[in-house]
Amino acid sequence: MLRDDIYQTTLNSEITFSGVGLHSGKEISVRISPAYANTGIRFKRGDIPSSEYVKITPFNVYSTQLATSIKCGDFPISTVEHLMAALYGMGVDNAFVEVYGQEIPILDGSSLPYVKMIKEVGIKALSKKRKFLKLRKKMVIEKDGKLIEMLPSRFMKITTHIEFDNPFIGYQKVFVNITPETFANELAPARTFGFKNDIEKLWSLGLAKGGSMENAILIDNDRVINQEGLRMHDELVRHKALDLLGDISLIGYRFFGHVRSYKSGHLMNNIFARSLLVSTDLYTVEELDEKVAIDGFELKPEAVAAL
Ligand SMILES: [Zn+2]
Repeated sequence: MLRDDIYQTTLNSEITFSGVGLHSGKEISVRISPAYANTGIRFKRGDIPSSEYVKITPFNVYSTQLATSIKCGDFPISTVEHLMAALYGMGVDNAFVEVYGQEIPILDGSSLPYVKMIKEVGIKALSKKRKFLKLRKKMVIEKDGKLIEMLPSRFMKITTHIEFDNPFIGYQKVFVNITPETFANELAPARTFGFKNDIEKLWSLGLAKGGSMENAILIDNDRVINQEGLRMHDELVRHKALDLLGDISLIGYRFFGHVRSYKSGHLMNNIFARSLLVSTDLYTVEELDEKVAIDGFELKPEAVAAL
């Protein structure tokens, strides 16, 4: 029986880091501090004195071009998805995130640096219980051959499919039952990727200035340009699953359900998260009873008695 699965959590102590922003190419620093129960994940711009902490939801997202970007009041913060995925995947419910610039540094293009920093400081349980979103009925959104659906489940599961004309990528699928361990090992190391032609176009438009092979997998036709190659043979679809989890995490609850996506990106992920929150007839929000919850399983009291 894991107390941490039932009770809200925060970090044991502060995390600070800095790195290059994918869009601006500028060096930006970030401080993530422990927060009390029911804070959720709150962001503010540390470089703007009038910026105040805002609890972000899918409705704070104002752009999904290249990354998921939020507005804290009037102030934008770009590329929150890999940090959000790491906090959610590692089970950090409450934190204050102070960003000294307009985007979260891209670091190595994955969530692995965050996982390491979170593991370094550790996580502590708070006295208030977590609220879980339990899906009761299937939900589907679909457009232009892309799809995200969520099915009721006793677990937090993600299946992601991608399909590209590119012969190197083609069709790929990954399934993960999300726990801090599976997140850290199976999704967090997967880096973002881009195509050589697209990156060159973005650079010519003055975008993605911080993008490089230090923080993205670069694909040219049927090969990876990065000398080190891929971290996992299906790294690309795993990164899409990581993005999906990060974008869904903005709902602010742990969830019980199986999310299945086909060719989705940040825009569709965000529409899904918004649609889910407003579809209040499809889910309930509940706290778990310590006596009947084991590591994400919900068990009937008689089953617990038999253990
Ligand atoms: Zn990503």
